Amino acid sequence: MTNPLSTAFEDAFRHGGALVTECEFCGRTHFTENTHAGDWEEGELESLQEAAKKEPDKYEAYFGEGYVSYGYVNGRQFVLDCPCLEEKVKPFEVFLWTHRRGIMQYLQQRTERALKEAEEDWHAARPELPTQEPTYLDRIRKEAHDRLRGERSTRTVQGKAPRIIQMESP
Ligand SMILES: [Zn+2]
Repeated sequence: MTNPLSTAFEDAFRHGGALVTECEFCGRTHFTENTHAGDWEEGELESLQEAAKKEPDKYEAYFGEGYVSYGYVNGRQFVLDCPCLEEKVKPFEVFLWTHRRGIMQYLQQRTERALKEAEEDWHAARPELPTQEPTYLDRIRKEAHDRLRGERSTRTVQGKAPRIIQMESP
């Protein structure tokens, strides 16, 4: 079957690889048949192959090189290439992509708040320093906003030579 997940989603949520592991969304056991992949215990692979013959719906064997790749969404482990992905995991990606504008806005607000709090903590720990001047973080933030708008920026950052930032139009 074809993988319903995008490469971007896999890259974001893949966690690692294993000789044998379970998909917690459907209960299938996945294992690699690559005997050079790692530390199989004596008879372990053979007993998995035996079990897979008896209950083919509950096991998935991989013949390729390497390991079974797995990741996590919503606190549960899923296995890349599991037959249940379309039904169980793809909806998470559909949610992310459908609401991408709201999600980006959410991440931006949370990030800016975290930056502001970190900055306030920094200043609180150094009451002797003035806070009237725009801080370095303020400047970075403004520069990022300008960049997003595709504007030209000629400001000087902390005494360095002016930098010209020209963004190409999308
Ligand atoms: Zn599954």
